[in-house]
Amino acid sequence: MNKVYCIGELLIDFVAERQGNDLSKADNFTKKAGGAPANVACAVSKLGGDSAFIGCVGEDPFGTFLLQVLKDHGVDISTAQRCSTFTTLAFVSLAEDGERDFVFSRGADKKLTYNPAIAEGFAGNLVHFGAATSFLGGSLEAAYSSYLKDAEEHGAFISFDPNFRQDLWGEKEAEFIQKCTPFIARSHLCKFSMDEALLLSGKDGLSEACEYFHQLGTQIITVTLGAEGTLLSTPIMNLNVPSVKVSPVDTTGAGDAFIGCLLYQIASLRDPYAVLEDGNALLRMVEMANKAGAITTTQYGAISALPEKGEVF
Ligand code: ATP
Repeated sequence: MNKVYCIGELLIDFVAERQGNDLSKADNFTKKAGGAPANVACAVSKLGGDSAFIGCVGEDPFGTFLLQVLKDHGVDISTAQRCSTFTTLAFVSLAEDGERDFVFSRGADKKLTYNPAIAEGFAGNLVHFGAATSFLGGSLEAAYSSYLKDAEEHGAFISFDPNFRQDLWGEKEAEFIQKCTPFIARSHLCKFSMDEALLLSGKDGLSEACEYFHQLGTQIITVTLGAEGTLLSTPIMNLNVPSVKVSPVDTTGAGDAFIGCLLYQIASLRDPYAVLEDGNALLRMVEMANKAGAITTTQYGAISALPEKGEVF
């Protein structure tokens, strides 16, 4: 089993208990571990895979809590860092129509520093980049680029999820696109939502978007479409892969479950690059990843809702 290194943010999500889209009125919050790349690391290890998390939390009780959650889920945290800055916090309140009120207190995640010794482990393994906060400055941004260079040099299988957050990027979409583009060009696998695929390509339709991403250099594109499943695109095929029917209660983490399950299966191959040559195997993997995403929607929460191996395979 090859290892999946997941790089990016790990933070506390304080979710308002009584939802209503107005944080000024919220009085009770539930503390949850959050951060897409950390969720992906948990998704891989819950399925029985080998994963590590590269990111930074504070030397405070929240940082202790977050690392313990990852450890409890079998993620290797020896590659994580702690620093004297407070752990990054996000406060969120959701209205019934999905509108959210959001306050972000950015702390330790931006302090990740590059450690070349960690990159020595990339050879023959997989490296997944999640970009929700990675392009928002701090030493994290420079470390992120250095790890991409290392992943290439060590011949790792590279995966990228832009994790675009309107709340964080507001009017700076052009900058986000410009910073994501080299990662798309240099990754073997990219996972987008439909909105991300259209935003990052500047195209009006998904097939033109996929064509653009292939021209940039990425070979496997997955565009997750919620209940509609996933669009899978390679230079030789474009397929809609249906998901399984479920009764969803909370879609948080479905995308992370999806990419985690796909990476878990690629990591299980003796040679991860073999997936680039075998469209049928890739299609079966996406079917399983859809199932992992669907299962995650049937429970509340992100990490706690991620499926175990027996539920998917
Ligand atoms: P996130 O916001 O967690 O990053 P996302 O938008 O990237 O999520 P989704 O499209 O919501 O990801 O979900 C990922 C995958 O999970 C989908 O491609 C699909 O296979 C499965 N899935 C999600 N929602 C449903 C649903 N309601 N019914 C069945 N399958 C679903």
